[in-house]
Amino acid sequence: MSSKQAVSAQQLSDDELTAAMLASEEALSREYARIVDLVGEFDKRSLAPAKGYRNTSVFLVNALRLSYKEARARVAHAKLAMPIAKTALASGKINREHLQEIERVLSRAPESLPDTELAAGEDALVTLARQASPFTVRKSGAGFRSYWDVEIKDPKTREKELARPRRTFSYNVTSDGLMEFSGVFDPETSTLVAGVLAPLSKPDPADEIGKPDRRTKDERQGDAVAAVFDLAARAPDMPISASERTTMTVTVGLDELERRAGVAMLADHQAVSVSQLLKMCCDARVVPAVLGTAGQVLHLGQPAELASPAQLAALAIRDRGCSRPGCTRGPKWCAPQQMTRWIAEHGPVELNDLALVCERDRHLLHHTDWEIQASENRIEWVPPAWLDPERTPISNTAHDPPHHSAA
Ligand SMILES: [Zn+2]
Repeated sequence: MSSKQAVSAQQLSDDELTAAMLASEEALSREYARIVDLVGEFDKRSLAPAKGYRNTSVFLVNALRLSYKEARARVAHAKLAMPIAKTALASGKINREHLQEIERVLSRAPESLPDTELAAGEDALVTLARQASPFTVRKSGAGFRSYWDVEIKDPKTREKELARPRRTFSYNVTSDGLMEFSGVFDPETSTLVAGVLAPLSKPDPADEIGKPDRRTKDERQGDAVAAVFDLAARAPDMPISASERTTMTVTVGLDELERRAGVAMLADHQAVSVSQLLKMCCDARVVPAVLGTAGQVLHLGQPAELASPAQLAALAIRDRGCSRPGCTRGPKWCAPQQMTRWIAEHGPVELNDLALVCERDRHLLHHTDWEIQASENRIEWVPPAWLDPERTPISNTAHDPPHHSAA
């Protein structure tokens, strides 16, 4: 065997190559069982604190240069009893990934589970691991866990857990206004969220000039989440008083305002570009405050709703959804976009000065050279010159009934 190992892979016959691969894989499993055993003993003797490290995982990160995730996994594998699984690992019959899945199941077994039940569970999982993939072990283990949950857990504890869904969402706004977030949803919430996001994050069909959707999956999902929040922020029964977005005071210098460039300050002194500002203004209740060059207040407006509920209903009927050519989003994913005026003016807005635009396409309107205009009760988008030198206006036919496009 030891002379075999010295022979390079290229020199082995086909059969020898296959056999050597199997043997080597078994050896990996045996070595892994050995290190798990060593780590367990090291931990039991509290050698990490004795050497000045907080715990065994931290020691492994430093001494073996492991990632923290890997170090924690090894300590978890070492600390949990799993006698049947470890024997199978030490004889090379199951591998590290199998052990990982078995540990995942057994470590989450209810505390009140009788030892005999736990051992029977471990035995069944090891038997499965000897003939199936770690993925199969995981699936089967999930079944064990829900069975144990229902059968073993004190019904009162279970009810309490069900009554309090596990949902966390933590976020942090960085100094440049970006939001970082992380969190966990329980299975029910997860199903709900995934069900809402899946259709919204599908790639768009190719646009009118045949360009496919180039967004990555993460970008499409980001757009979907933004669209959901945009919809929620405009829901009539939303508790808007707490929302920074729906009422805000904007301070902007007159010269910046005229040039539509430069930087404006929000009430909480976050810098935003004027194009970002325009985007926020067009669907928020904005209190515009315009300053002259000496900092004097030239204009302090009243917060005004952009469109009345009746106008919104009329827009939904007229535009049937987002007005951007090729966009298929319906009215509920859109906000009214004012076409000719902006924040320094206020007063009632005419219906023919409004168009429905979805959250994502509003971005397009404010950050690119696309423009929007009304023509005979139909909204038209004017492409940027680089796209169409003639700048021929296009209106969206995606919401037209079938007989319309056939005619
Ligand atoms: Zn759209």
